[in-house]
Amino acid sequence: MSKYKTNEYGFYGNFGGAYIPEMLYPNIENLKQNYKAIINTDSFQNEFKDLLKNYVGRPSPLYFAKNLSKKYNTNIYLKREDLNHTGSHKINNTIGQILLAKQMGKTRIIAETGAGQHGVATATVATLLGIDCVIYMGEKDMQRQAPNVERIKMLGAKVIAAKSGSKTLKDATNEALRDWINNPENTFYVIGSVVGPHPYPEMVAEFQSIISKEIKIQLFEKTGKENPDYVIACVGGGSNAIGTFYNFLEDDNVKLIATEAGGLGIETGKTAASLKVGKPGVIHGSKTYLIQTDDGQIIEPHSISAGLDYPGIGPLHAHLHDIKRVNYISINDDEALKAGFMLTRTEGILPALESAHAVAVLEKQSFKTKDVIVVTISGRGDKDLSNYLQNNKFKK
Ligand SMILES: *Cc1c(COP(=O)(O)O)cnc(C)c1O
Repeated sequence: MSKYKTNEYGFYGNFGGAYIPEMLYPNIENLKQNYKAIINTDSFQNEFKDLLKNYVGRPSPLYFAKNLSKKYNTNIYLKREDLNHTGSHKINNTIGQILLAKQMGKTRIIAETGAGQHGVATATVATLLGIDCVIYMGEKDMQRQAPNVERIKMLGAKVIAAKSGSKTLKDATNEALRDWINNPENTFYVIGSVVGPHPYPEMVAEFQSIISKEIKIQLFEKTGKENPDYVIACVGGGSNAIGTFYNFLEDDNVKLIATEAGGLGIETGKTAASLKVGKPGVIHGSKTYLIQTDDGQIIEPHSISAGLDYPGIGPLHAHLHDIKRVNYISINDDEALKAGFMLTRTEGILPALESAHAVAVLEKQSFKTKDVIVVTISGRGDKDLSNYLQNNKFKK
């Protein structure tokens, strides 16, 4: 059995599983029993592929970045998930899960969102496929991410504020789980990354694996080889990174680099680098590395990038870290800002602050002239414009 797949209990090595309240057991069991059979049918695959092509705009380009390559004296390709409909990779997963929900006979979708990006992607696809949608969001996040709240409402979804605790993502998650317990029959819970109880991490990984599947085909067309020397992506929960790595995991000569958000620096405590400063614990229904106090309370993470500001990390990443298949490095806020300005000025591509963390590796690591490097640009930076402008001292 592949060391990159879950065992029968839903663990990748020591991480994963399904740590859920007993009342959710039937929902999770139902999903686990049915999802593989459904997503492998022709009818599911045909509809999924048709929407990815004609609605999302896939395949997303694999762009040879000539100016960037010259600057770093190597060969750099950018996988352009920023060009997807709604502006990031998240829609690959929401289309997959909502199609699945419909085929399972569900009539209602719920999701939680922190920065609002997963909420927008979920509300978009719920509207497209004509299914009721409720998005839970921390009250504090609703204030910080007001434009995304308006977008979700404009799409016709309902937004419910989570008013407990820190009024952020983890509180929204608790509210969504409570809703699911109360509405087990008709409701499907759409999780936005490779996190949550088994089988969510492996299901989301499968939906996002389209990214690396396309990279192999596109790189072969451009260079005659399907494998690059390096593949680089940023990690919040870890879905764009897993999607980017998925079809390269078994190719040991492809070096995989993932960037966690260092925030103000891992030594400051104001960080979201779960693998660097976290310890194993349980969050969001699975066992993984988690930023926590000695007695197991979650510490509020910090990153300039809302999408990476998560105290845990997907269980497959925890495993890939421990077996050293992926090199996880942390990139601080200022390094990401610099990389974001640099890419904008070099290639005319304004990356999401999340994606800028991946781009920042080019400055940290030295590459050989003949190396081939693929960096995934997970999303576009329009949403981060005010954040960039407030920090424009990093422009040079
Ligand atoms: C949400 C988001 C991320 C982080 O999520 P992952 O599951 O780690 O991919 C990264 N980039 C963008 C643009 C996002 O919207």
